[in-house]
Amino acid sequence: MESITYGHVAPDFVDQVEMMSHANLSRCFHCLACSAGCPFCEDMDYLPNVIIRMVQFGMKEAVLKSSTIWLCVGCNTCSMECPNSVDMAAVMDSLRQIAVGEGIQIAETGIYSFHNAVVDSISRYGRTHKLEIMMRYKICEKEFFTDIDLGLKMLSKRKLDLLPSRVKDKKAIKSLFEMAEGK
Ligand code: SF4
Ligand code: SF4
Repeated sequence: MESITYGHVAPDFVDQVEMMSHANLSRCFHCLACSAGCPFCEDMDYLPNVIIRMVQFGMKEAVLKSSTIWLCVGCNTCSMECPNSVDMAAVMDSLRQIAVGEGIQIAETGIYSFHNAVVDSISRYGRTHKLEIMMRYKICEKEFFTDIDLGLKMLSKRKLDLLPSRVKDKKAIKSLFEMAEGK
């Protein structure tokens, strides 16, 4: 775990996060249930409940530059465990959106590259094209030859399609993405 350093304080950060996530962070009494249930907490630099406290303290830069917000997979366990109905998963999602929107240096670039490759595939085909996602990820991360054995094995067992399959209603996919982008 990282020790918390105090830098620039952003008093309006908590309002920004609450507005975006629709979570009322003042309901959190730091019972630790969210952190205890999180399957990835051991690898996080700050526990989920600590992230809430840091948001309340306006520690915007430390939160947005943390690995925690990218190691969170949005499994919702924390939100289900919370006795006060604080939607922690939505908070994490909002923090990722703020970090990207404000051009913050992403702590876990590999996770972000993978995320982008998946979203890009869905926006173009309405489905995930796994081979293309893997190739885009490898190019972004400049990891051209790692896992090549596994990739060839998957191809030989027809676990990876060479060509993407597409949904018929492309307009629906386009309008979903426009809605998400607030257009
Ligand atoms: S489970 Fe809920 S109340 Fe408990 S620390 Fe987490 S967010 Fe706060
Ligand atoms: S949603 Fe994120 S923070 Fe919550 S339990 Fe899952 S991985 Fe952990």
